[in-house]
Amino acid sequence: RKADIECAMLVLGAGPGGYTAAFRAADLGLDTVLVERYPDLGGVCLNVGCIPSKALLHAAAVVEEAAHAGDFGIDFGAPKISLDKLRGYKDNVVGQLTRGLAGMAKQRKVRVVTGVGTFLSAHELEVRSEDGKTQLLRFQQCVIAAGSQAVKLPGFPWDDPRVMDSTDALALAEVPKKLLVVGGGIIGLEMATVYRALGSEVTVVEFMDQLMPGTDKDLVKPLADRLKKQGVAIHLKTKAAAVEAQKKGLKVRFEPAAEGGSAPEAQLYDRVLVAVGRAPNGGKLEAGKAGVEVTDRGFIPVDRQMRTTAPHIFAIGDLVGNPMLAHKASHEAKLAAEVAAGEKKEWVARVIPSVAYTDPEIAWVGVTETEAKAKGLKVGVGKFPWAASGRAIGIGRTEGFTKLLFDEATRRVIGGGIVGVHAGELIAEIALAIEMGCEVGDIGHTIHPHPTLSESVAMAAEMFDGTITDLY
Ligand code: FAD
Repeated sequence: RKADIECAMLVLGAGPGGYTAAFRAADLGLDTVLVERYPDLGGVCLNVGCIPSKALLHAAAVVEEAAHAGDFGIDFGAPKISLDKLRGYKDNVVGQLTRGLAGMAKQRKVRVVTGVGTFLSAHELEVRSEDGKTQLLRFQQCVIAAGSQAVKLPGFPWDDPRVMDSTDALALAEVPKKLLVVGGGIIGLEMATVYRALGSEVTVVEFMDQLMPGTDKDLVKPLADRLKKQGVAIHLKTKAAAVEAQKKGLKVRFEPAAEGGSAPEAQLYDRVLVAVGRAPNGGKLEAGKAGVEVTDRGFIPVDRQMRTTAPHIFAIGDLVGNPMLAHKASHEAKLAAEVAAGEKKEWVARVIPSVAYTDPEIAWVGVTETEAKAKGLKVGVGKFPWAASGRAIGIGRTEGFTKLLFDEATRRVIGGGIVGVHAGELIAEIALAIEMGCEVGDIGHTIHPHPTLSESVAMAAEMFDGTITDLY
């Protein structure tokens, strides 16, 4: 069969992994085709992930700031929320970015093919568009960047619009009076933050014994305390066992996560958001026909150059493994495209920052304290409480802290965590410090502007070193 389209590089999926790989490959001179099932480029991150959630979190932060301005004598009164306008604002933010991507693809002469792609052989992909028409694409090399999807808990009434995944929650159909968030990870807590600010009465259930499992417990505490103060009910070690759709609401039955534990009584909610993780899309691509191994869970194993078991096919982003983050996907994308274009490179992810854009934000990078303990690493900790930061006091947000983890033998920073407003912006310095192999003095002796929250990073280094002289 004659191919409809031939290309040097085919990229499957146009999320932050896919569009970055396609643009880099094109910049390096490869004739590139980008296949995406949806008409808009940008994948989960731009359309139904990072970007719309942060637009809504910005609105939530404004509501929260206004509510506390009374503390210094400025009263804005109760917010009047127009859901249509807020939705419009979010959609406009998304639209600006996705339109920008379409322009960038055009500029680079990346051909975009819309439809669902499945492999036919090691060098062939079939793309089926919505009207059922198919096109045969023949490629020399390929990057698979088909991403992930929200896990749908089985047995829940998913055909009821009141049962939502994160995409539904971002669509902002209404502000439910009572919202249950199943899953206290980053996505669940970000959406809980948004809906609480908009006026919902929010309950969070989490199976593990802390919110945001995987993060150090001390980093989570200021967030959990603030949520509780705001009236968010949090049930740890609890499972949402069953949801029954009733006319007047969704009746949710809870069970303890482990035998002998306790669980709240069954309750009615107006909406339930399920945010219990994301599953890779690797199993849906007929990748085996191309000689690409896919694990039972749908992940695609890759080597240090992002090559799959078929050496001319690369895989990147959410479907190659955790953490499922946009900046990991785009970094892997550049590597894959550069290797495909003949550059001799490899990369092992050690330093990938994670950020929860909650209020306060939580950010961490490198080794966590929990991990260090589990691995028996000899680490020293420098911790600076924001209660001693002039800037944090000035903005009335002293609940945060900054901590650095140092290798005791080399005195090099190997990890860090920050909880507090703007933690997500501040964590980049620690990421750079780890990448650069900074020792404690390199950070402590770097002059940070005063009064800023960024000073807390230098102060944490000084706390470890015992050289701290002046906290304010
Ligand atoms: P995706 O973005 O999933 O893109 C894959 C693309 O492939 C999709 O467009 C899909 O339609 C397409 N596709 C799949 N199969 C096919 C096929 N067979 N044929 C054609 N096209 C196909 N990460 C952060 O770093 N920061 C954040 O703040 C953040 N917030 C998030 C908030 C939410 C609510 C969610 C859900 C996720 C968030 N993430 C965040 C995670 C981030 O969105 C993902 O890590 C990122 O999008 C992964 O990029 P990717 O390129 O691997 O895949």
